Amino acid sequence: MATREWNPLDFDIGEEEDEEGTPSPSSISPPLQYFDRDRHVAFLEMMYNLMPHHYQSQEINRLTLAFFTISGLHLLRALDRVDKDRVADWVLSFQAHPRSRAELKIGQFYGFHGSRTSQFPPDENGVSARNAGHLASTYCALAILKTVGFNLLTIDKESILISLRNLQQPDGSFMPVDVGAETDLRFVYCAAAICFMLEDWSGMDREKAKEYILKCQSYDGGFGLMPGLESHGGGTYCAVASLRLMGYIEDDLLSKTVTSSIINVPLLLDWCMQRQAIDGGFQGRANKPSDTCYAFWIGAVLRILGGYKFIDKIALHRFLLTCQSEVLILHLNT
Ligand SMILES: [Zn+2]
Repeated sequence: MATREWNPLDFDIGEEEDEEGTPSPSSISPPLQYFDRDRHVAFLEMMYNLMPHHYQSQEINRLTLAFFTISGLHLLRALDRVDKDRVADWVLSFQAHPRSRAELKIGQFYGFHGSRTSQFPPDENGVSARNAGHLASTYCALAILKTVGFNLLTIDKESILISLRNLQQPDGSFMPVDVGAETDLRFVYCAAAICFMLEDWSGMDREKAKEYILKCQSYDGGFGLMPGLESHGGGTYCAVASLRLMGYIEDDLLSKTVTSSIINVPLLLDWCMQRQAIDGGFQGRANKPSDTCYAFWIGAVLRILGGYKFIDKIALHRFLLTCQSEVLILHLNT
């Protein structure tokens, strides 16, 4: 892989901008022909140190942003750029704790808060007046802790798992918080990933969750986020990955007797393959433009099925490179 020298402090490209900060045509260069690892590492390192103003509206999802940052650095083999103990301490500071064990059964969820703004200050006993633990934040918190090598078996998993049951609905789906929230496959996936990482399935009724997931497979083979909804790349990932984590399907399903699988594997494979568009990228739904994220969502499903080998990898790679941004410099200037 080609690399080039890049100075992270060299943010000033003032000569190439007009007074409004708009890049002049001469500064708009063709897409890079290679994955610029160094610059992606620098971007993620910046996200580790501060939250640029573009992300301020996402402050409530601070742990989710941190998950992308830490897992991104991990994938790029650059986790040495962060202080792992500090990261673990910071993440643990978002965990919601009940006043007593009895509180775990009254309907609330004692997971992790998404950010400081949803975390009320603790009283003299170290307990917050109001608990706003969120399923997605809890998934991200545990995934970060696991990525930085923290031993998840040392945390108070009982609070998480007992109260997680409060979020599961009679149809098997999950709400992300304890009051008035949507329920769909995203949160079934979060719950499954939480139980998987904590190595304890007492937090959910797996059978019920499985029944819910199976109802979401559509006539065309993909999965909608809820039963009866249009097949969607994100929903399909949540469904297939949840079944895999829960142990209902195995890796490399295509090499097994697929007729005995609880899902319609040939139809699912067909739906996934049809999502690779003419430009090489993956779309989330039929007739939608390609988007980088579906290379992950649908790519991961194909990985689990063992169908990854059927995609046009060169075309996908080419598409992803056209999505690679050079505007880190511009973001920091505007
Ligand atoms: Zn997307």
